[in-house]
Amino acid sequence: MLTQTGRGLQNPHMHLVIVGAGIAGLSAALYARLYGFETTIYEELAPGGRCLETVHAKYFPGLPADEKAVTLAERLESQVLDSGAVLRNERVLQVSSREPASADGPVTIRTESDETFADACIIAVGDERKPAGIPGEEEFAGRGLSYCATCDGPLFRGRDVCVIGGGDSACDEALFLSEICSTVHLLCRSEELTALPALRTELSGRDNIRQYFGAQVRGLEGTITDMGFRVLQSVRFRWGGTETSLAVAAAFVFVGRRGLAASIAPELDADADGRLHTDRHMRTSGTMIYAVGSARSNPIPQFVVAAADGVVAVKDLYDRMYEDT
Ligand SMILES: Cc1cc2nc3c(=O)[nH]c(=O)nc-3n(C[C@H](O)[C@H](O)[C@H](O)COP(=O)(O)OP(=O)(O)OC[C@H]3O[C@@H](n4cnc5c(N)ncnc54)[C@H](O)[C@@H]3O)c2cc1C
Repeated sequence: MLTQTGRGLQNPHMHLVIVGAGIAGLSAALYARLYGFETTIYEELAPGGRCLETVHAKYFPGLPADEKAVTLAERLESQVLDSGAVLRNERVLQVSSREPASADGPVTIRTESDETFADACIIAVGDERKPAGIPGEEEFAGRGLSYCATCDGPLFRGRDVCVIGGGDSACDEALFLSEICSTVHLLCRSEELTALPALRTELSGRDNIRQYFGAQVRGLEGTITDMGFRVLQSVRFRWGGTETSLAVAAAFVFVGRRGLAASIAPELDADADGRLHTDRHMRTSGTMIYAVGSARSNPIPQFVVAAADGVVAVKDLYDRMYEDT
């Protein structure tokens, strides 16, 4: 329990719960242990978050460009466990403030199996892909339509594929696919890519990536095999004033992501994309509840920023322990 008695605190014990063990949550946990907080992390899947869905952890200062994202996650996880933080493999259903704050701590964390209280909570649940709303999307999901090039790309080695989207994720995954597929058609709805300039430059240097700007995807088409399986054969789109169809073995969709935080903390102020509003200290509108990384509104979607958010939140928490009340 946090005993707030002002500066010169006698027993500055802090129980911190972190929800989500992506780069943001793990970095927060590492720093929380440096500050001596009793730290519990809840992760519903495996630690690492999006690191487990992408090949390289690009643009992380000091790391080589070909650093495997999974290696970054594994190293960080070991550091966190060695530091004495407790990692629980459990899904959190709800985080809420207790009003008036009780002696057990002002935050309630409800999981699938129990309810626990904490002095503070950092929500680091990240985000999820948005559906593209393309006709045929549900029909072909897992039958040629994929949302993860790293996971499914190797199934289409040597074939022609398309990527739908124009942001960082779409370009990053198109680059990955260009190394294993014959031709990658990049269908971008707007007139230019919104990805980082460095990614755009890399993309332009790949001979087997064809870019289509102002492409409006109209639908996915396929057939049923003799074995009764539905398979994707082509993507139809409007481009340059005409209806076009491209033969592809797979379509990879990256058209944006939406936050998961608002669904587990519905009482907190959030944006229309389900991400929590925070101030510069990562404080949300809930008492002693923070949001970091892709869980917060307007994130810069980079590992280094997610890591930094976690550190900012923990430092603020530490400062609050010594604030005059
Ligand atoms: C395809 C792709 C490629 C990318 N490549 C790069 C790159 O090369 N370089 C770079 O800097 N950035 C890259 N990014 C951006 C980067 O992935 C994000 O900025 C970063 O993952 C955000 O970290 P996070 O910890 O906030 O969220 P996440 O990585 O999403 O982690 C959130 C964690 O919370 C867990 N969780 C969710 N809900 C619950 C719940 N209710 N209870 C318990 N646990 C829960 C999830 O399982 C997950 O482990 C990429 C993003 C994508 C989509």
